[in-house]
Amino acid sequence: MRQRAGPRDFLLRMPLGGPDVSRYIRAMKKSAPKVGIVSLGCPKALVDSERILTRLRAEGYEIVSSYDGADVVLVNTCGFLDSAKQESLEAIGEALAENGRVIVTGCMGAEPDAIRAVHPNVLAVTGPHQYEAVVEAVHQVVPPKHDPFIDLVPPQGIKLTPRHYAYLKISEGCNHRCTFCIIPHLRGDLVSRPAAEILYEAERLALAGVREIMVISQDTSAYGVDLRHAESRWRGRAIKARITELCAALGELGVWVRLHYVYPYPHVDELIPLMAEGKILPYLDIPFQHASPAVLKAMRRPANQEKVLERIRRWRDICPDITLRSTFIVGFPGETEPDFQFLLDWLEEAQLDRVGCFKYEAVAGAPANDLPGAVPEEVKQERWDRLMAAQQKISTARLKRKIGRTLDVLIDEVNADGAVGRSYADAPEIDGNVFLDGVTDLDPGDLVKVTIDHAEEYDLWGTVAERPAPRRARGQRGAKIA
Ligand code: SF4
Repeated sequence: MRQRAGPRDFLLRMPLGGPDVSRYIRAMKKSAPKVGIVSLGCPKALVDSERILTRLRAEGYEIVSSYDGADVVLVNTCGFLDSAKQESLEAIGEALAENGRVIVTGCMGAEPDAIRAVHPNVLAVTGPHQYEAVVEAVHQVVPPKHDPFIDLVPPQGIKLTPRHYAYLKISEGCNHRCTFCIIPHLRGDLVSRPAAEILYEAERLALAGVREIMVISQDTSAYGVDLRHAESRWRGRAIKARITELCAALGELGVWVRLHYVYPYPHVDELIPLMAEGKILPYLDIPFQHASPAVLKAMRRPANQEKVLERIRRWRDICPDITLRSTFIVGFPGETEPDFQFLLDWLEEAQLDRVGCFKYEAVAGAPANDLPGAVPEEVKQERWDRLMAAQQKISTARLKRKIGRTLDVLIDEVNADGAVGRSYADAPEIDGNVFLDGVTDLDPGDLVKVTIDHAEEYDLWGTVAERPAPRRARGQRGAKIA
């Protein structure tokens, strides 16, 4: 996934009004140093970009959405796969050609020599989550101007996502050592944020009008292990740094809470009742990566997929509506045809709702590169095609079951053709959509009841069954916080 600053609107709302103040702000904005950003990679990198922009905005920098207007351009890179690195290098080249004053940060920043070998003119290179170093590099290139008006930042920080949804990062790093992955090398071991800090951030987001919070990290279910589940105080009570307790508390905010990157530890079972009770969305994004015990062993992932199938059955007994999303890698070194067939059979049993699939790609520095049994590219492609075709049938059948049901749908976009939204079963950018053809009188962020009348492989179509209250009566869209 690639997110570029270009098409996004970074215009900031100034909370002060009145003609004199507006004139003053306009004058100051003219002289404020301006920063542009190109944000590449996963939602975790997007949250890093938001933190950097929040800090710069707090210091009086103006965030601009074009290369021309920027005094300096930040490129937040992705270094997960070689193809992502190539894309990062291209984005740096584009920013250099269009603007010339470029600071590089993010995952690929851990390899400054590789960047400078291609782009010797970048002004600075900083690594992943080195917020201080990025901000310092910006100061060097274009010093901040202190101003009490321009220093005002919305309390929820600067967000690169639309106003009605946001990513909430609960920890950094990972204690696993999957052989295909260099993230622990880039980002280090697990470091969790205290529960109260996360909950206060979530509360600010909800008050600012965010209606859906996506909980992210490298390993969401491991949250708090490094803190030994220490308690911190929120709303006058102690909350443990543990995923179940954190989710129960997030469930009090009255917004959709969606969990991503959940490793299937046994205690994940505790989350299912919270989903059944409607406290958090019945949606689990679990990157299983494979099903064959031999491949999982080579990947250094837990191998007991039989038990996982049993657990999936139990989860569906407790919460029949649960949506399961996962990602898989085909063509991992040593993957045989029987291993791959095992995976296809497992998928048939598991009946997952949403599946993403990657062809194995060697990442520089990953231990998997040294494994024997490299799978030829044409075999990888053939397995990828077979897996996607098999899953498409499963996904189509599962979506068809939704025809006739009425679902809550959060509207993301309204254009001349109609409105486009998502149900609880669809995360933004990676899952499907619910299309409301011809419905043009809704707004992004509206939550409407939709009766589903058509389904295809990935998407649904429906008719509005119940509209949100008229805007005047609705007043502020922010959630009610006790
Ligand atoms: S759990 Fe995820 S982040 Fe951690 S090593 Fe494995 S693939 Fe990488």
